[in-house]
Parts: sequence; C-alpha cells; structure tokens
Amino acid sequence: MPITREQLSGTAEHALLREQLRLLTDNVTTAAIVNLINMTVVLVVGHHAFVSYLAVLLWIFFVVAVVLVRLGIGLFVRQTRYCGNLNRLLKFYELACILTGFAWGSSVWLLNTTDMSVLVLFSFVIAGMSGGAIATLASSHLVSRGFIIAAVLPMVIRMYLIGSEIAMATALMGAIFIVATVTGAGRIHRTLIENTRLRLKTEAQTNVLKQKDEELSAIYDNATYYLVLLRPDGTIVRANRTAVVNAGLEFEPGSEQRNIANFPWWHEAAYSADKLISDLKRVSVGEVVRRELNLRLPSGRELRVEMNLTPIHFQGDVHYILLEAHDISLFKRIEQRLRESERRFREISEASGQYLWETDANGYFQFVSDKVHEVTGYSAEQLIGKKKTEFLTPMDAQRWTQALTTAASENKTVRIEVRSQRADGEWIWELISGVPLYDEAGSHIGYRGAAMPITDRKHYEETLIKAKEAAEAGTRAKSQFLAVMSHEIRTPMNGVMGMAELLMNTPLNEEQMEYARTIYQSSRALLEVINEILDLSKIESGKFELYVHTFDLHHLLEDIAELISVSARNKGIKFSFVMDEHIPKFVRADDIRIRQVLLNLLGNAVKFTQEGKVELSARLRHVRGHAYDIVFVVTDTGIGIPEDKLEHIFKPFQQADSSTSRRFGGTGLGLAISKELVVLMGGRIQVESEVNQGTTFRVELTLDSAEQPLALEDKRTRQQESQPDMSPSSRRFRVLLAEDNPVNQKVAMAMLKKFGADVVVAENGHEAVAAAEKTPFDIILMDCQMPELDGYEATMNIRAGHGPNRRTPIIALTAHAMAGDRDKCLSVGMNDYLAKPVSQTALQEVIRRHLGQGR
Ligand code: ADP
Repeated sequence: MPITREQLSGTAEHALLREQLRLLTDNVTTAAIVNLINMTVVLVVGHHAFVSYLAVLLWIFFVVAVVLVRLGIGLFVRQTRYCGNLNRLLKFYELACILTGFAWGSSVWLLNTTDMSVLVLFSFVIAGMSGGAIATLASSHLVSRGFIIAAVLPMVIRMYLIGSEIAMATALMGAIFIVATVTGAGRIHRTLIENTRLRLKTEAQTNVLKQKDEELSAIYDNATYYLVLLRPDGTIVRANRTAVVNAGLEFEPGSEQRNIANFPWWHEAAYSADKLISDLKRVSVGEVVRRELNLRLPSGRELRVEMNLTPIHFQGDVHYILLEAHDISLFKRIEQRLRESERRFREISEASGQYLWETDANGYFQFVSDKVHEVTGYSAEQLIGKKKTEFLTPMDAQRWTQALTTAASENKTVRIEVRSQRADGEWIWELISGVPLYDEAGSHIGYRGAAMPITDRKHYEETLIKAKEAAEAGTRAKSQFLAVMSHEIRTPMNGVMGMAELLMNTPLNEEQMEYARTIYQSSRALLEVINEILDLSKIESGKFELYVHTFDLHHLLEDIAELISVSARNKGIKFSFVMDEHIPKFVRADDIRIRQVLLNLLGNAVKFTQEGKVELSARLRHVRGHAYDIVFVVTDTGIGIPEDKLEHIFKPFQQADSSTSRRFGGTGLGLAISKELVVLMGGRIQVESEVNQGTTFRVELTLDSAEQPLALEDKRTRQQESQPDMSPSSRRFRVLLAEDNPVNQKVAMAMLKKFGADVVVAENGHEAVAAAEKTPFDIILMDCQMPELDGYEATMNIRAGHGPNRRTPIIALTAHAMAGDRDKCLSVGMNDYLAKPVSQTALQEVIRRHLGQGR
C-alpha cells in the first residue's frame, strides 16, 4: 500500500521518537550495572562519613528505584514493538534519567565529612558519570542537560558551602563542567537528532522507491506488449517478461546474441534484420518509427505485430530506444474475416441486383451501396440525407412510411413493393426489405435493408395473370362447350339408338336387319367416343370427381368376367378369371371407374387377340389394417405392342400402329383415360408386351375394406325377389313419362310398352306434376331439361305435394352426363339416374330395381 505524505510525516515523527527511545535505552543494561557498581563504590568510599544511615538507605532505595524504572522501560521498548504513546514514555524515561543524575549529585550530601579527597573523588565520579552519560543520553535534549545539572549542581553547591580553597576550586570546575557539557550536549544532541532524522527519511524514501519500482515492474512485466529497452546500437538492456517468456527473447548479458538484430525475430524479407538496423539508426537521431510486420518466434510460430521504436532522450541525447511490439494477429484475422464477410455479403447482394441501404430513425439515408446507381440512376452521394419517400408515388410513400413505423414499434421485418422514379424520370418497381435497428439501450436508431428492381418480374406477373385469366376463360368455355355438346348430341342419339334397338325387334328381312344393326353399332361407337372425350376433358380440367362408396368387389369382378366371357366366346378365344379368395368382398372405392378401367383393358385384350386366350386375375399383395393392396392383371396372347410404342400408348389419341384404328377401330383414348383414373384412385398401371406373344397390363390399387352395407343387402334381396316378376308383361304397371322431345317420347313409350307398362306422357314439368296429383303411378321417368318447369322442380313439387305419388320412385332420364349431375338429381328427391341414350336393357334394369318400392 503506498504511503501518503501525511502518513509519511506522521510515521517519520513516530519513527524519530522510537529511534530516540532506542538510543536512550540502548545501553540500559550496562547503565544499570554501572550505576549499581558506582553505588557500591560510593557506599564503600563514604561509609565512615555518612550523615545518617536512614538517609543512605533512602538514597539506595532511590537509586535502585530509578535504575529499575529505566531498565523496565528500556527492556519494554526493546522487547515489544510498543506503538502507544511513545512521547509520554519518552518523557517518563527522561525524568528517570534526570533523577538518576540527581541521585548521583545528591550523594555528596550524604557525607558528613570535610575530607576533601573523598569529596573530590566523589565529584569526579559524578562528573565522569555525567560525561559518560552524555554520549548515550544525548539523544534527549532534556536528559543530556538535566542529567548533568541534576548530578553536578548539588555537588557544586556542597563544595561552595564548604568554602575551603580546594572546595571552591572544585565547585568552580564543576560549574565550568556544567556550562561546557550543557552547551556541548546541545550540539551533540542536535547533530544526533538531525542524523537520525536524515537516516529515517532516507530509509522511508528508499522504501517508497522500492515500492514504486515493484509496481512499475509489475506493470512492465505483465504488459501484453513486448517491451525491450535497447541501446541505440540495438544491444538489449532490459526486456519485459512477456518478451522473454512469450516471444522467446532470451539473452545472455554480454553475448553476441544480446543485440536485438541477431535475434531470429526478423526473418521475413519484408522486414529483415538489416531493415531493423537502419530503423534503429533513424530512431537514434530522434525519429519515431512505427511498423506492422511478421515476427517469427523461436518456436516457429509467426505473429503479426505492430512495432514502435521510440527514442528515449537523456540530457539532449538519445540514450535508449524503447521497442514496443504488440501482437495483432487475432485482430488482423478478425479484421480479415470481417472484411471478407462484408465483401461476400456485398457481392452476393449486388450480384442478385440489390443495393443495400441504411437510414436513421427518421428514414433519412445514411448509407447506400454503389449498386443503387444502376437501379435508380442516382449515385450514393446524391441519396445520402434524402428520404426514399421523395422518389415514390404519394400512395407508396405513405405505405412505406407506415410500414417503417410499424416495423420499428413491433421489431419486425418490412417487405414492400413500391413504384419509384429513376433519375431519368422512368418509373420502376422496387422490392424493398429492411429491419429496424436498435442501440444497446434498446432505443430505435434507424433501419437497414436491401432493395432490388422488380419491374420485369411485375410485367411478367401481369402477363401471367392475364394469361391465366385467358386460360381460365378458355377452360370455362371448353367445359361449357362440352356440356352443351354432350347434351345436344345425346338427345338425338337417344332417338337413333332407341329406334334402332326397337327396329331390330320388329320382323325384318336379313338385309334390313343388317342395316339396323349397323346403325345401332355405329351409334354405340359414336357414344363411346363422346363419353371418352368427355371423361378425358373432365380429368384434364381437374373437375373429375370419384364417387367413393361401399360396394361388392367380388360381384363387380364376376360381372365384368361374365361380360367379357361373352365377347371372347363370340370371337372364339378362351377367357379365364381368377380371384384371390382373401380379397375383401366389400370395399370403399368408385366401382364405376374400376369397372371402366378393367373393361377397357379386357376389351383391348379381346380386340387385339385373334387366337389363344385372355385372362383376368385379381391378387392380394399386402394388407395393412383396412388397406388392401390388390393387383389386377389382364393378360392376352394377342398381337402385342412394339417396345418403342409402349410409352406412347397411355397418351391420348395414340395407337401402337397407325393401321390399328383401320383394323380394330378405337380412338386411342381408352388407355389414357384408364391411366388417369388409376392415378386419380391413388394406384398405378404398368404394361409388359412382346410382339405376337401377348400383352400384360397390371393395375395396382389400394382399397379400403368395409362392412357390408345394409342398403346393399336389402337391394340385392329385393332384386332377387323381384326378378322372377320381371319378364315383360308378367304384370302390368303404370308409368308416368315426362319427356318433351317427341322422338325420345316415342322411343321410351315403345320400350316401356314392351315391358308391359301403361304409359302416361307429360310434355313438361307442369303436366307431369298435374298428372302425378291425379293418378298413382308405379314409376315416374323424368327428363331433366323440359320447357316451362324442368324435371328437378317437378320432382320437388311431387315430393312436397299431397298427391298419391309422394313416394313413387322417380328416375331421371337425362342427357346431362357431366360430373355432379347424378348428385343433383338425387338431391332434389329422385331415386335413380339414367344417362341418355338409354338402352332397352338399362331401362329394364332400372325399372326392375325400383318397381313396387313406392308402396
Ligand atoms: P384404342 O384401343 O381405342 O385404340 P387405347 O388407348 O385403349 O385406344 O389403346 C391404345 C393403343 O394401345 C391401341 O390402339 C393399341 O395399339 C395398343 N394396345 C392397347 N391394348 C393392347 C393389347 N392388349 N394388345 C395389343 N395392343 C394394345
């Protein structure tokens, strides 16, 4: 702990007192012994002439007492580091010393003698004691004088009172002695005290210097700098510990190595030992040199340092050079990384066409990167101190200001597209994004971000939007067109097919029969094409919806097999059907679409096979809970498909061979639709084929198994029950036919009559409702599109009325074959749905299903 000036003076006084005490009590033991010996001498010499023994006893007691007091104080001060009231102790000791003097001086008074020789002897003993005492007691001004006066004065008085010549002479000598020693003692005392004071001061100063030196060394040795004190020629005088320990600057005083230039630090060409020497020369004439260089440590490690060489002047000359070197490797590395990262960020952002910006809290630009010139035509300097809002449309300026305010208050990122004006007056679109900036105390200080031109993108987006709108309009028009076409074609087709079918049931000669069959088959083919085109367009427009419900898969597959076996038999080829018995009976899926896919594949198989066989198999692959992976395989021994055509056959209107359609008919749509349907159902379809060997199509579907639905069971039992009834004319039943088209009226009437129906015809919805109010019917066939009141509304009226046909089955007969039409019919209260053209079989089937249900 450093000592303050006040403390120092206080301490100095204290030390002086202690020193005085020490000097006074230095020979206290010797003094005690001398005193006791002296006392003995006095007693021996004066024993025959004592005034009284009591006085002598008192005197002895007095002498012993003061000697003991002095001895006590002396030993106390010597043994302990007494720090209490040193001044009082000193005074006490001084008093004891003076009393000692007095004891000796008064001893002459103990003698009742005129024997001058004894008295003179006494006097000399006393004077000698006093003189001897001065040496040691001179450290106290008081004692050195008090002792002599107290000792010698009583003796002088005694001699004077005796009055003899010799006594007077002794008295005179005593008086002179007093005067001489008192003055001399003063000088000795002063000198002693001065010396003591000086010594103590020097000691204290030395201590302070030592402490300062230690402090300086601590700083110097622990500094992270390398500090080396050099002579102007480069000789190392001193080096701090960091330089010695960390940088390996070990040097032996006196050796060659002692010159800093001989050290391995200076290895690089850019800063060699020669360079250092020339720098030292410059410094030795008073220059300061600063360098950044690489130092190589003896360990081989390289350091980047900043080095200063500073001259240290002494009486006008450069006596020393201070070399300071500071390791800046880490700082350099950080600086380089920062620079790299800053460069990378700038390059990346500028490469992406962005300029960077920074504003203060009020939105005034503080920094803008150079790229801004390319984007806006303004230089960075032109923009500093300006606001972005000055270049925006009023509305965008408001939006931008608002966005910044919100961003700052909610600490959010801003991202906004604005129109801004370039220096050349052109309006461009910019995408500006940024973040609010806060200082360490959390106060908002500005914004920082990037901006890029997006005019091209905006134009592109606009074009895209327009194109999309156009495409959507086109798609809408196409769907509309298809719906209308499909409806318009189906209505006359119903007439053509129905009539052809009816015609074939009349007595005809062979030629006529052939013509009628051709009409029928051609119209069927046409209908197929219409259906396929419609399906494909629905799938393509994403409007195709699967009708997922629970159905009997076994029954479906058996049905399909039965149908195909007939056409295979007709063509003279074999057909077989295998089904894994573990395939669940009831599944949830769209049965119509599965049927469509399989019939298409099987139809193709039969079509392209002249001899051999066609096979349908259904196998279970895998079961996970309710999910069953089923593979349907259709194999034939037909003409096969060339390998290079395999990938095309699933595309619309693609056939393996251009002659195919001539030889086998078909449009090339079936597989395209099948593939789309399978994908829509979450499955996949694959083909393998070899020309003239045969073809295998594999359809993989995952179907969910289901419980047997009650409704299905009911329907089936009922169907079975009613079946025997349904041979035409086995029972007469009443049908209300609501149909506006006269040709279709005729077709339906003719078909219905064949089944033994009594038919009442209604020309439109109103007539249908009126008829239904009056008479109970077994079945109502309802065309959907009719003048005045359409089939939907007529159905709703019948269902809502109080007539006898509230629960009569109503079956829609409609040329609307688009998605959702079936649901629409069922939702208004109809029971079933038949798409036109209606074949005799289909009509018969649906009537059979619903007959007798209403009652
Ligand atoms: P379409 O049969 O109406 O021509 P598809 O899309 O069903 O149209 O079939 C496309 C083409 O794939 C057929 O024209 C035919 O060339 C070829 N193809 C399909 N199935 C078979 C098969 N089982 N054997 C040989 N070729 C076939």
